[in-house]
Amino acid sequence: MSNQRTLAAPITFSGKGLHTGELVTMTVRPAEAGSGIIFRRTDLKGTPTVAALAHNVCDTSRGTTIKDGKAKVSTIEHIMSALWTLGVDNALVDIDAPETPIMDGSAREYASEILRVGTVEQSAPRRYFEVEEACTYEIAKKGVKVEVLPAEEFTIDITVDYNSSVVGVQNFLYTEAVDYTAEISPCRTFVFLHEIELLLKLGLIKGGSVESAIVVVEKPISEGTRRRICKSFGKENIEVERGYLNHQPLRFDNEIVRHKLLDILGDLALLGRRIKGRVVAVRPGHLANTQTALLLEKKLAE
Ligand SMILES: [Zn+2]
Repeated sequence: MSNQRTLAAPITFSGKGLHTGELVTMTVRPAEAGSGIIFRRTDLKGTPTVAALAHNVCDTSRGTTIKDGKAKVSTIEHIMSALWTLGVDNALVDIDAPETPIMDGSAREYASEILRVGTVEQSAPRRYFEVEEACTYEIAKKGVKVEVLPAEEFTIDITVDYNSSVVGVQNFLYTEAVDYTAEISPCRTFVFLHEIELLLKLGLIKGGSVESAIVVVEKPISEGTRRRICKSFGKENIEVERGYLNHQPLRFDNEIVRHKLLDILGDLALLGRRIKGRVVAVRPGHLANTQTALLLEKKLAE
């Protein structure tokens, strides 16, 4: 058992929002023991706050969004992942927009800033959720399943399979011995080309929505499509290489499953307690991750 921790000093990030493409500034500040991670909308009158807890999740369609009254913040999963996994239990996240900056699509800069300023131990003990019985969230027809099982140590065994010949089946076993900063935080979000084709046609690719994402290309593309991609991304000579657009070379061969791990770490942090248990996740997404956190939150309340 260890004590709670917070940041040793504030850290600030600026970048484009995923949805709006507008500039966002986010400052993560130290916070009192027991406060958990709280987001504060500094651009709104009265600077309303929302706690990063599972029961505040209101949307999981393109990322995890939390809401409490007028305070609503989208795409919280990457900063949550970095803070929580690097040992920050308490923080106040000031943000001047409805969404976090997407940065390079990963949590790399978040992790490196957290490490740069460091964390300090607080006087209260950490809170844990000890898994006593198996708990499962499943969307059977989509092949999605998240199980939380009793175990001494926190581990996540994660597998993705999108029936994609490019991505294949990818698996990663996360334990607390894994170096999150080096192995997980640099892994970027991804999108399948067919999911953004309409946006490309309409010229609506903007912000950090795709420029920084890994783009998976399942089928050969026409020269016209290729030119349109180059134009949308503002880059020349983008080609398909081994099934991925080469505007963003892969950082790891299995970067996709590592990013899904980054996401589930951030979403399970919405329990507000450290999990003592083994998580087995198959094809997880923000809905399954946050619903799992909510199931555990309800067990805690019992
Ligand atoms: Zn993500």
